[in-house]
Amino acid sequence: MRRRVGFQHGLLAFGVLVDCPECEHRVSDRAAACPQCGFPIAAELAAQREREAAEADRTQRERVGDVDCAICDARGFTTEGPEDRPTAFSWCETCKHSGRVPLVKSPKGYWAVGFASEQAFLQGEELRSPNAVYLGDHAPEGHRYPEAGPRRDGEDDT
Ligand SMILES: [Zn+2]
Ligand SMILES: [Zn+2]
Repeated sequence: MRRRVGFQHGLLAFGVLVDCPECEHRVSDRAAACPQCGFPIAAELAAQREREAAEADRTQRERVGDVDCAICDARGFTTEGPEDRPTAFSWCETCKHSGRVPLVKSPKGYWAVGFASEQAFLQGEELRSPNAVYLGDHAPEGHRYPEAGPRRDGEDDT
């Protein structure tokens, strides 16, 4: 990063000129550093793009359907103990027992969002599993069961 980059007309022909935030010298957006003051242009632009992408990801969310609940594997309940001999089971709070949760799309990709967290997530809140689970940039296909189960609302959202 200490290496200074001089003006190269070949680069300028393809890049865009930006104002250096430090000295306002006009610099190619492809320059690693400002040739006048050494400000790290490339790193700053990358950080700025990252901030803009994160901001867009918070503000451009929409519900596009339903997806199988990953917390209970679409069954609507979770078990404790060994799989073949569970010692306890409880209704899944994330999908309200229905086996499916809202599917939300953002610029980054698709999210499985618990019913209790849907509004907060659509309004841009940062949430973690099990409230919001990132599914990747491809829309999930198909359901484990053809019908969603009935929802059990009115339970505590703990
Ligand atoms: Zn500069
Ligand atoms: Zn569930």
